[in-house]
Parts: sequence; C-alpha cells; structure tokens
Amino acid sequence: MSSTLMWIKLFKRNTVRRCLIHSLRCLILFPMSKTDSRPNYELSLADCEICCELSGVETSFSKYGWPDSDQSMDPAASRLELAESIEGDYRKENHHVKRCPLCGTYYQYDYSYEYLVNGSEDEEELTRLTPTQARRFIEDETYDLLLQKMERNLNHDDIPTRRYAARSLASHYLELGDMTKVRTYLTPDTDNEVLRGILYFFWNCEDDHYKVAEIAQLKDVLKKLRGHADENIAAISGYVLKGIK
Ligand SMILES: [Zn+2]
Repeated sequence: MSSTLMWIKLFKRNTVRRCLIHSLRCLILFPMSKTDSRPNYELSLADCEICCELSGVETSFSKYGWPDSDQSMDPAASRLELAESIEGDYRKENHHVKRCPLCGTYYQYDYSYEYLVNGSEDEEELTRLTPTQARRFIEDETYDLLLQKMERNLNHDDIPTRRYAARSLASHYLELGDMTKVRTYLTPDTDNEVLRGILYFFWNCEDDHYKVAEIAQLKDVLKKLRGHADENIAAISGYVLKGIK
C-alpha cells in the first residue's frame, strides 16, 4: 500500500471513530430537550445541586489507545441543557452555550480534537460564564435579578459562590466601562475571595485582549494589591499589572 493511501485510510478511520464518539457523547452528555420549568434564578452556586459540583472550568481528555490517560468531565455536566440550537451546524456542535436548568447559570462548551499517527486526541472544556458574557440569552428583567443576587452573594458563606459573584459584577461594570464602580470592590477591606474572583477575571480579560485599557485605569489599585498580605492575591495583581504594560 502506498504511504498516501495508508494516510487516507488512517484519516478516514479516525474521522469515523471521532464522529461516532462525539455524537454519542453529545447524546449522552447534552440532551437536546429543554425542561419546561423556568430556572430558579435566586439559587446560588452553592445551593444548586448541579453547579455546586462543577468548577469554573471543567475539562475532559481522551487519547485513542491510551485509556489510562482518559479524564472525564464531572457527571453533573451531563445535566446541563443546550441554550441554543446546534442542529445542522457543525461548528456549533463543537462550540455552543449550555444552561443549568435549575439555577439558570450559563456555560461555554468547546470540543477540540487532533489527529495523530496512532489515533486522535479529544478534549472538551466547559467554562462558567458570567451573566454579562451570556447576556444575549437573558431577558432584561432576569438580568437585573441576577445582578442583585450577585451583590448579595458577595457575602455568601461558600467560597466559589463569592468568587463567582465578584467575577460577575466585575464583568458587568467592566463591560459598561464603569471603573469607578469596579474600584469599590477592590479596597483593602475587601474579602480575599472577592478580590481573587475579580483579579482572575481581569487576567482572563487580558488573555482575550478585552477591555485592557479600562483595566489599566486601575493601575494604582493593582499596585497596592501587589503588596497584599495574601501571597496569591499579591501574585495575581502582579500578573494583571504586567498585562497592562
Ligand atoms: Zn445550576
């Protein structure tokens, strides 16, 4: 067999296998049907039995022929619903938004694969979105309710809930360009988890080249936070500062 023919056969075999696995995964993990009931937007992450099981970024990984290295996503991810139609759209099958049917939190789903000589590698990533990042799916009235909830959740007992609330509020005011408001969440007395939520969000924004000029307006605050007693907060503040230079 010529080497060209061999490569074509290998490619086809991997393509068929990948398509089958991905289709099955979509069917099992992400059913098409939505529940009829409206989510309870008052639920915090901690009080939602789905979202409390998911971290801010969930990933899965599988490599053909290497089952020991496979890593699955938390089973709670299978309870999320599609927030948008993916029918007949191959790109959307691999990149779309999902919603928690219980609390209404949105997640970005991304699937990628790479062909290799001895098989393929498949990766999935599920990223929790702020209400602002999922704005196009949310009605005005609900959006206002969510922002009010985030303000309340800044004082929640649960750490991931406080961080997500802070991230969400920073996301909202950064989108508006209201840096005076963002400043009010970055005082020396601010809870460490709230600070972490905002600083990690800024860091992600810089990676995406989003609103960097606005974040740069907070240089004085970030310089102070670089001397924070919490080493992690001091370090992230330094990284965010580097990103605006
Ligand atoms: Zn939820």
